[in-house]
Amino acid sequence: MSKFSQFNFGDKKALVRVDFNVPLNENFQITDDTRMRAAIPTIQKVLQDGGSVILMSHFGRPKDGPDKKYSLIHLVPHLQKLLGDEPEVFFSADCIGEAAAHAAALLQKGDVLLLENLRFHKEEEKGDMGFAEQLSTLGDVYINDAFGTAHRAHASTAIVADFFDADKKMFGLLMEGEVSSAEKVLLKSEKPFTAIIGGAKVSDKILIIENLLEKATDIIIGGGMAYTFWKAQGKDIGNSLCEDDRLGLASSLLEMAKAKGVNIHLPIDSTIADKFAADANISNCNSGEIPAGWMGLDIGIQARTDFSEVILRSKTILWNGPMGVFEMEKFQAGTKTIAEAVAAATQKGAFSLVGGGDSVAAVNQFGFNDKVSYVSTGGGAMLEFFEGKELPGIAAINK
Ligand code: AMP
Repeated sequence: MSKFSQFNFGDKKALVRVDFNVPLNENFQITDDTRMRAAIPTIQKVLQDGGSVILMSHFGRPKDGPDKKYSLIHLVPHLQKLLGDEPEVFFSADCIGEAAAHAAALLQKGDVLLLENLRFHKEEEKGDMGFAEQLSTLGDVYINDAFGTAHRAHASTAIVADFFDADKKMFGLLMEGEVSSAEKVLLKSEKPFTAIIGGAKVSDKILIIENLLEKATDIIIGGGMAYTFWKAQGKDIGNSLCEDDRLGLASSLLEMAKAKGVNIHLPIDSTIADKFAADANISNCNSGEIPAGWMGLDIGIQARTDFSEVILRSKTILWNGPMGVFEMEKFQAGTKTIAEAVAAATQKGAFSLVGGGDSVAAVNQFGFNDKVSYVSTGGGAMLEFFEGKELPGIAAINK
């Protein structure tokens, strides 16, 4: 594997896997271009070196081959705008075959070619070798800059890398940032290492908690999933969210943590509500003494202080999942306080990584995205990384 920043792309055609799966409205206008903007630094470095760029991406979930609705041609004007007047952006109506080969052959230094949606070919998601080989013939070097799909062994995200020598494949800047942040937390964490896990369900987070029991010093559990842990200890949780079929599992996770010397922190109290609604009546009470008819929708006043203390003495912090129903104002305080504590710990020198859909949405909503060390864009991929799985997109570059 080569290091992107040290590679000279002069006269090279770089085949770059990006994630241009942006949302479009019914008029094919882009409603959020974050993913496109995120790829620009990688593209610009190749162009500045005197190379050319061939971009490939999936887009939506087309069912049966080419479909205008899922064509990447809608993105060309905006890509041109993001890159400025200098580089010319070309489009190929197919990502393989003669059209793509011809367009790639015509590329001059400083040009950009966007290939049509990879998923117009079923072979992409099947990880087909022949399809991957056809893609590989388009470029001299392969760059993977699509962390969001790194957990899939698709042709363009993993298999294609086998057709490039070790010194001709690398991560792009975006992917490099994701991988090095994730590795810093999971493999090279400075202790104390606190993992903050929240969200709705225990069942979604079992593997990540199990894996973190091997790595973390402290695990903070908030959100709806905390109540399954309280009920497993025989407590009254009223109408709070609970997965009754996971009570045994919750008990055994608590026992495993004890045996391994990992501190598990559950919210001692909760903001409770008499209904799941923005205009509910609310109160604060012990999480293990919630009256019938009431439900815990946020961590309570004492829990916010307890959790903040743990966070403030940490050197490494991983945060996945909100502490409460942060979408409603009455149940935001817990998640907001935790965001503040993570920001304060970061300012004191801790490394903090926020990953996973809803916690990322929460730090963005509360304006803390530039006060933590790293905000991951790769929801599913980041989760699988923290579950301890090898991601095909990373392995393909490393091997
Ligand atoms: P997840 O996708 O598993 O990270 O869960 C995120 C969702 O969990 C958010 O939509 C929150 O509103 C929801 N959530 C967090 N805390 C609670 C709670 N105490 N009760 C019900 N839902 C919750």
